[in-house]
Amino acid sequence: MPPQGDQCVYCQLIDNPQQLMIIGETENFYAWLEVQPRAKGHTQIVPKEHKESIMDYTPQEYDEAMSLVREVIVKAKKGLGADGASVTINIDEAGGQMLDHAYISVFPRFEEDENAGTPTGAIFQHREELADKLEELQGQMDSVDVEFGQPVEPHPESQKYREEQEQTEQTDTEEETQEKEKEENIEPKHQGKSFEWK
Ligand SMILES: [Zn+2]
Repeated sequence: MPPQGDQCVYCQLIDNPQQLMIIGETENFYAWLEVQPRAKGHTQIVPKEHKESIMDYTPQEYDEAMSLVREVIVKAKKGLGADGASVTINIDEAGGQMLDHAYISVFPRFEEDENAGTPTGAIFQHREELADKLEELQGQMDSVDVEFGQPVEPHPESQKYREEQEQTEQTDTEEETQEKEKEENIEPKHQGKSFEWK
């Protein structure tokens, strides 16, 4: 895959935007209809500047791209009568990224389609053996420090939070009591409707 923007398929298209079936645009992104559609209204949200991966987006670009994703979904629902939508982000070759230029795909979903109700994550089969390893996996992932955009306080249920609490245990007991109260008052995570995987 060419590393530079010069030969990049998307960069070539962006240089000649009259070729594009644009349905939305922000300062730094286009939303255009995929020329080899896999769904009615299949749309790609693409940065105008060559970026190899959405991992290279700034926090502001994430905001901009995801707002455009939302706009496209509204257009699909109101303009095409879509009953739902799936948004996919494939990262790196192993993750199914098909081009060396970042993109987010929106697939409008329709009740009459054969695949209606099937989540895009259904390509992953249920792997029961992994359920026994969740603590180990949590440790391996939660311990990684990631700095990006605004610093986010660790979630009260995370290992990092517990470690930080242990470190500051003796500093301010009153504050800690309040934190514990807060922790106890946390609402259950999954309150929405739950759908069965098909
Ligand atoms: Zn490019």
